[in-house]
Formats: sequence, C-alpha cells, structure tokens
Amino acid sequence: MTKIVGLTGGIGSGKTMVANFFKEEGIPVYISDERAKIIMDKPEVIQKIQEIFDENVQKEGKLNRKRIREIVFKESHLLEKLNAIVHPAVKKDFKQWVDLHQKYSFVIKESALLFEQKLYKTCDYIILVTAPEEIRVKRVVKRDGVTAESIRDIIRNQLKDEDKIPFCDWVIINVDKELVKKEIKNIIEDINLRNNSI
Ligand code: ATP
Repeated sequence: MTKIVGLTGGIGSGKTMVANFFKEEGIPVYISDERAKIIMDKPEVIQKIQEIFDENVQKEGKLNRKRIREIVFKESHLLEKLNAIVHPAVKKDFKQWVDLHQKYSFVIKESALLFEQKLYKTCDYIILVTAPEEIRVKRVVKRDGVTAESIRDIIRNQLKDEDKIPFCDWVIINVDKELVKKEIKNIIEDINLRNNSI
C-alpha cells in the first residue's frame, strides 16, 4: 500500500522548497495549502462558507480571503466553523489524490499544520524541516516583504520544533540547499528500504 510521508516545518523553514526537491526526484507531492485554496474556490464550497458569515465574503465569484482572514482572526468561533467546512473537504480530496497514486510506494503530504491539526497521526512517516530562527525570519521578510517582528510573532505562536521532533522520523536542517538535496536522496532510499522490509 502507498505510504503517506508527512512533511512539515514552521514558517520560513523551507518546507515548500523541500517538497519541490522531492517532486524533482519523481515523488508525488500534495501541497495541502495549495489544494485547500483550490477546494475553497469550488462553487458548492463557496456557498457553504458564505452561509457562516453575516456579510458578503465573495468578490467576482471568488472568496475574499483577505476579508475572511480579518473576520476569523477576531472571531474564533467562525474560524472553527470555517475549518469544519474546509478540513473535511481537504481530507476527502487527499484520499482521492492518494488513490490516483497507488502505483507509488510513497507520497509526500506537505502541511504547515500537520501537528496542529493532528494529521501526523494519519502519516506512516514524518519529516520535519527546520532552520535557525534568524535565517527563517530573513527568508520570509525577503519573500513576503513583511516586518521581522511580525514573523517572530508568528514563530512564537507556532508549536515549537522541540515538541514535534519526538514524533518525526527525519529532521532536515535546511541551511545549505545542496546538502538538503543530498539528504533528500538519502531519505528516499531510507523510506524505500523501510517499505521493502515491511
Ligand atoms: P511558509 O510556512 O511561510 O509557507 P515554507 O516553510 O514553505 O514557509 P519556503 O517558502 O519553502 O518556506 O521558503 C521560504 C523562502 O526561503 C523561499 O523564498 C525560499 O525560496 C527560501 N529558501 C528556503 N530554503 C532556502 C535555502 N536553503 N537557501 C536559500 N533560500 C531558501
């Protein structure tokens, strides 16, 4: 059976870059955030989401994500309701996607919230991507044009790597891209060895 390898990491750790390196090695990769955005733009999902808000959260037939973020930031019960629509839809989509990739011995599921949403329990193996905090802050400042302080705030509010590490099979320290690429090749070999010995 196709194994599920969860790939996670805090903001700016480089998990999306690492996911793309796996893709380059021919491994199917599911980027949960990207898929969630596509799912949320399906008309039937838009309709369900609209029903939980008192004001119009649509713009030209699409969801006004910025407005939704602002509202749920202040009203956590609405965030819960939103998650209750989006999470099951992503779960179903992921299951269908795995079914389409049955011929692979394993697939990668990249998710920033693997631990927060308890999705790690549904994975056979887990990879954590990490990097020193100051490097992560610099990366996101450069990528998103935001302040260093706002990124430090997000890091403070995310689960700490130390709490995730005991549940992980591999920890990638992402500083040097070329080293990371080599490590990914080793991890792929390792996963295949583990799968063959089961
Ligand atoms: P987020 O949780 O914010 O989505 P992420 O963990 O997915 O972040 P990436 O988007 O992969 O992180 O990386 C953040 C930025 O840092 C990107 O612009 C990426 O190209 C860059 N980056 C990541 N790793 C490295 C590296 N080893 N060397 C140079 N740049 C890197």
